[in-house]
Amino acid sequence: MGFWPLTGCQTVPDDSTWQRFEYVNPKMGTKFRLKFYAPNQVTAERVARLAYNRVEKLNAIFSDYSPSSELNHLCAKPHGKPIPVSSDLFNIIQQSQQLARETGGAFDITAGPSVRLWRQSRKHVQMPTADSLAAATKRVGFQKIRLNPRKRTVTLMSAGMQLDLGGIAKGYAVDEAMRILKQNGIRRAFVAASGDMLTSGPPIGSEGWRVEIRAVDEFGNIYPRTIHLKHQALSTSGDTEQFVEVNGQRYSHIIDPRTGIGLTNRIAVTVAAASSTVADSRATAISVLGVNKGMDYANSEKLQVLILTMGNKKHRLLKSPHWKLW
Ligand code: ADP
Ligand code: MG
Repeated sequence: MGFWPLTGCQTVPDDSTWQRFEYVNPKMGTKFRLKFYAPNQVTAERVARLAYNRVEKLNAIFSDYSPSSELNHLCAKPHGKPIPVSSDLFNIIQQSQQLARETGGAFDITAGPSVRLWRQSRKHVQMPTADSLAAATKRVGFQKIRLNPRKRTVTLMSAGMQLDLGGIAKGYAVDEAMRILKQNGIRRAFVAASGDMLTSGPPIGSEGWRVEIRAVDEFGNIYPRTIHLKHQALSTSGDTEQFVEVNGQRYSHIIDPRTGIGLTNRIAVTVAAASSTVADSRATAISVLGVNKGMDYANSEKLQVLILTMGNKKHRLLKSPHWKLW
């Protein structure tokens, strides 16, 4: 065990003898990683289990795959009636709605019907029909959600609505896993769910947690650039392995809620922020907004954003004015 000397009025543990532990567990359809420093293995395992339990619990609320999730129960309720929900579900919907308003509906958790259509499309490597696209788009619109914070209720205003938290839930879970680590005395940690990561204090003897991001050199070639992260979240969205290619056109699993079409702009958006919920959701939102509107939005919100645009041969990397990582 370390001891806790008093420095001023703050207690800081002496963790110089703490060891590094790493865990990886399949959660939320991805590899959920924890790396952190703890005084011993028993403590590390106990804390890791607590963090994973929290993620598991969130998945049971947020999942749109599981028919028994709280989210899907909410969507199955008759429309037009206020439904009381858990604080996690209310919280994440409320944050999503704020982002939907800020981005004119580029980010929209009511896009579930379109998202599902494209999921089928990826499975069968086939474009959705124009009719099915139009029918799905009619069921989409963030204005169709009403929230009552005092009563903590959600009202879905029209029939056939399907919420999808895929663009924000992993970030939220990453934040919560880190909160559990902190609550249990872990101050140097890295938490990641595929493209969404969050760091607290740096590894012992290091300036930060090593992370590789795709950068572009002067010739327009992509290369992996190493950065050191601490006390910060970093998320990347867009141009992942999740797309369907039909007639030479790539359609992403991120869709434009206003047209119902999978994105075809070949961009990858990286956002650095204090919270993973913010980084994850803003990365998805800016992917939909595209380069120009996305950078305007980044500017107005003072967000740290990188946009990688992929041309046929030459790639480009654009930095928002607030980008500080290099
Ligand atoms: P990843 O899941 O690969 O990290 P994102 O964080 O960008 O990527 O989330 C993509 C997921 O977000 C989609 O699979 C879908 O569930 C959901 N989604 C797709 N388009 C939108 C959108 N316009 N607004 C909000 N969520 C979206
Ligand atoms: Mg996202």
